[in-house]
Amino acid sequence: MATLGIPQNTIEVLQKYHFNFQKKFGQNFLIDTHVLEKIIAAADVTKDDFVLEIGPGIGTMTQYLCEHARAVAAVEIDKNLIPILGDTLGAYDNVEIINQDILKVDIRKLADEKNGGRPIKVVANLPYYITTPIIMGLFESHVPIDSITVMVQKEVADRMQVGPGTKDYGALSLAVQYYAAPEIVAIVPPNCFMPRPKVGSAVIRLTRHKELPVQVEDEKLMFRIIRASFNQRRKTLANGLKNSGELTLSKEVIEESITELGVPVTIRGEALSLAQFAELSNIILKKM
Ligand code: SAM
Repeated sequence: MATLGIPQNTIEVLQKYHFNFQKKFGQNFLIDTHVLEKIIAAADVTKDDFVLEIGPGIGTMTQYLCEHARAVAAVEIDKNLIPILGDTLGAYDNVEIINQDILKVDIRKLADEKNGGRPIKVVANLPYYITTPIIMGLFESHVPIDSITVMVQKEVADRMQVGPGTKDYGALSLAVQYYAAPEIVAIVPPNCFMPRPKVGSAVIRLTRHKELPVQVEDEKLMFRIIRASFNQRRKTLANGLKNSGELTLSKEVIEESITELGVPVTIRGEALSLAQFAELSNIILKKM
């Protein structure tokens, strides 16, 4: 049974292997069994599931995943953790440890090989320095995904979940909500980790949409428009689109398109919903 979530056991393992935390890898290990149980419950892992864990650390959450899933692949960059994982996960025959940088792993191939291309579940206490590239990489490379349940910095979880008109709303909110339905399932204080992070954390579940919520003729163009709109937050949407390196559109095309969308030309990007960005990109595409 899983036992590493108890602080004393984590300390014992760390001492046995003379492990030194590496700040550059965002190493903050979970030491709270309630939080671990909450993550597993929110991820809804069953014996049918293949789970990808990103950054297993000393294997605390991996033990829980092995108990609940059919098979687990855990990708860990720090080679010093590999012998520790061999020890803490020695009792499980349904786990594979992959010593690699997650950003360099072909996750589609992994899902093909290990799960016959069927949707996988991703569960992780993420290294915070690469939260956005990991999540966007999973979505944009069209890995078959059922859900992503991850611990992230609280502020980043808020940004993923909010809608238009709020200060945290931006390109990340729109990108995440295009692909998935986000739901914050727990707020986690720093004392649940060793060492304690300087920021608050939250567990967020991103459930992949079965069908995309909006119809976009050119996804790449929509995301270029979104990035351009939020690059200069205090500017109007029209100025953001005009002054961005992302696009080369004339003032006339931009103003005509915004008017066609049925909103004032003075509107700011942060007031537009995902559906409006989708429509705007379809309008602009026709004029290009
Ligand atoms: N899952 C463990 C836990 O909850 O106790 C550890 C979580 S810790 C926040 C993040 C983990 O991700 C660390 O083990 C770290 O070494 C690993 N990591 C950091 N960058 C990585 C990368 N690029 N690819 C794979 N793992 C990485």
